[in-house]
Amino acid sequence: MTFLSSEASAADEKKSSQVQQAPLSEAETQAAIKELRAKHLAAPIAGFSMASIKGSFNEIRGGSKHGAADLAAPRNTPVMAVEDGTIVKLFLSKAGGTTIYQADPSCKFVYYYAHLQKYADNLHDGDKVKKGQVIGYVGTSGNAPPNTPHLHFAVGMGDVLRNWWQVSDLDPYEVFK
Ligand SMILES: [Zn+2]
Repeated sequence: MTFLSSEASAADEKKSSQVQQAPLSEAETQAAIKELRAKHLAAPIAGFSMASIKGSFNEIRGGSKHGAADLAAPRNTPVMAVEDGTIVKLFLSKAGGTTIYQADPSCKFVYYYAHLQKYADNLHDGDKVKKGQVIGYVGTSGNAPPNTPHLHFAVGMGDVLRNWWQVSDLDPYEVFK
């Protein structure tokens, strides 16, 4: 399934949300995936289909790599923190819409949740969150097609607290499979 083929520009999405660092080497990528898999992350949306996100990471959208997974779900489906951690930034962007950047406990990884309908009540920058805690709700904010509510979910690695938007993307399918 391709939900964002009608997105205005994935390049714009990258510019306004996650700017790519220099790509990780294959060895660095494999080490990061292994570390993330050992965390046994919770699903950001209950019962999403792994098959539906296979290959989504490498799809080219508007000339650049998608670098994320799109999880289809009805509007207002709860979005849950995949791990304990800290809300680094609640960010409104043209492409991503209503988004959340969440750091893992080590502040080495960042989880990015986009196209939200709204945030959970009383969620703020700097808040500590627990794995499975509802942090927002699925929507179509930003450039998501209005009739295909979904969560755009990305996993990044880098200097998360200083440059939360500038991280190297890791394939969510590889992290969750
Ligand atoms: Zn997406």
